[in-house]
Amino acid sequence: MMLDGVPRTRAELVQLTGLARSTVGARVDALLSAGLLAPFGEAASTGGRPPARLAFNPGAGVVVGADVGATHALVALTDLSGGVLSERKLAIDVADGPGPVLDAVAAAARALMDAEGRDRSELAGVGIGLPGPVEHSTGRPILPPIMPGWDTYDVPGHLQGQLGGPVLVDNDVNLMALGEHATIYPAVEHLLYIKVATGIGAGIVSGGRLHRGAQGAAGDLGHVAAPNGGDAPCSCGNRGCLEAVASGPAVLRTLAASGIAAPDLLALVDLAKQGDLEVAATVREAGREIGRVLATCVSLLNPSVIVVGGVMSTAAEHLLAGIREIVYGRSLPLATGGLQIVASRTGGHAGVIGAATMVTQYVLSADQVEGRLAVGSATAV
Ligand SMILES: [Zn+2]
Repeated sequence: MMLDGVPRTRAELVQLTGLARSTVGARVDALLSAGLLAPFGEAASTGGRPPARLAFNPGAGVVVGADVGATHALVALTDLSGGVLSERKLAIDVADGPGPVLDAVAAAARALMDAEGRDRSELAGVGIGLPGPVEHSTGRPILPPIMPGWDTYDVPGHLQGQLGGPVLVDNDVNLMALGEHATIYPAVEHLLYIKVATGIGAGIVSGGRLHRGAQGAAGDLGHVAAPNGGDAPCSCGNRGCLEAVASGPAVLRTLAASGIAAPDLLALVDLAKQGDLEVAATVREAGREIGRVLATCVSLLNPSVIVVGGVMSTAAEHLLAGIREIVYGRSLPLATGGLQIVASRTGGHAGVIGAATMVTQYVLSADQVEGRLAVGSATAV
């Protein structure tokens, strides 16, 4: 309850929880000695009386959040509320395999902790997002297409050995959904985050929680059949996937066929921002194709916010315009009445914030906190 950051008195906690005064008192004392609660507005207290109001103390520990992409990784050190303290960008090649990539992530995490003057004992946990399917319960990637050597690799074991644990692993887009939700839309219960970049994927927040599905594969929209996908070949070996016709590389291929050469996605986004009509029209058409798939998702999930992230979402609103045109036109009024379709506001940080949020939600869950308090008091006795 105190995780909302609102300072409260012991009397208010008794009233809010309906628990006995003595129970609340014992719990508050244990949380104070663990550092998870701290006096709030201490300066205002006078006469040596203990401050009456207490608040969650995000500084009680630190978390490492890492977002690993195909060619670089972002590693951040955050507090227990997911607030980024410092970060480091690394050039990596995910195809080098798990050993060198995870070693580089761990080295960056240690350097960040040293630079912030944080002891290893203050590390509450490590969260990492990977650009492929991850079995969330084991933290192991499962047949990730662009990650040779990573299939079923023990990512948590590797990082735990170098940094300490717990270590939690998830697909990068799931964590972007979690990061955007926690930072910008904490009160929204149903949110869909779609990343459009080299690949296409989605993360689903349902009932305020990340919905991973049975194996952790929920939201893998890149490889559903696009309505106008035809027989376009896809990197997964199938044909006509959404990713094969509406991802950044697909847009680049379409433009190249009409004689417009852009070396990469950033150059493509620049052309769109400069108002190149052919580029704008092609990006908008990709948005429409994504919209046709999203309209089905809207009917299935009834989100109130769709966040569009990934580098293609920065193409001067053209991608969003195409998505909005189809989703608002195809879905029933009850589903679209309160539906916002917006660009990501956490930008490149959504993944690391989400990775850290995954860890804080775990270590600050009632069960975990109870466990830590129990261990603490046993040691004290
Ligand atoms: Zn595919």
